[in-house]
Amino acid sequence: MNDTIRLTDTLNTLPENVSLVAVSKTRSIEEIAGMYKAGQKDFGENKVQEMMQKEEALPKDIRWHQIGHLQKNKVKYIAPFVHLIHSVDSEELLHIVEKEAIKNDRILSILLQVKIAQEETKYGLTFNEALQILTQKKLGAFPHVNIIGLMGMASFTDNIQQITEEFLSLNSFFIKHQKEFELQTLSMGMSNDYPIAIQCGSNMVRIGTKLFGARDYNK
Ligand SMILES: *Cc1c(COP(=O)(O)O)cnc(C)c1O
Repeated sequence: MNDTIRLTDTLNTLPENVSLVAVSKTRSIEEIAGMYKAGQKDFGENKVQEMMQKEEALPKDIRWHQIGHLQKNKVKYIAPFVHLIHSVDSEELLHIVEKEAIKNDRILSILLQVKIAQEETKYGLTFNEALQILTQKKLGAFPHVNIIGLMGMASFTDNIQQITEEFLSLNSFFIKHQKEFELQTLSMGMSNDYPIAIQCGSNMVRIGTKLFGARDYNK
């Protein structure tokens, strides 16, 4: 299958209001270039070093999304070019993002990552913490950060009921606070659960395996 067919196949499964972030972690420059030529402009990476190398080598109109946990001491490396950080999971990290935005004379767009999985996960804000940050922002904090929405990851399970409940919990919070805080983006759904995520209100999906095939971390 060529890139155009795989991209079109994936896009055909998405409603018009849902945007696709092609998750390109572990993929080569050539693989990303192929998907870019097929028309894809949004790519997601979870390792800062890897994103920097790819950004350097690939066309400048690619929009780079930081999707994995972001270490505070690495924000500075992506701040000059990153399009959207999906994974702001602490107030301390948000302060660093604000600082680096100022240094780069940019307004940085971010999503607050909320912990919705019932399984033990390390990263993500509670709903209360997210609400506190959004309230501070509304009162004037973080002027160089644009909090455009929320991100959540469901448990890694075959239990559709559980995945649905987890996604719906974030969707309810999103809808409840959407107007007050001008939230636009709800990033939920990966290769194995994105159809459920879309049913639960997601308007941005992060898909790797379904687009590029299975990942090989040993390459
Ligand atoms: C790897 C990753 C994805 C994509 O996973 P696939 O199963 O390959 O679609 C999405 N979101 C995050 C945060 C990831 O780390």
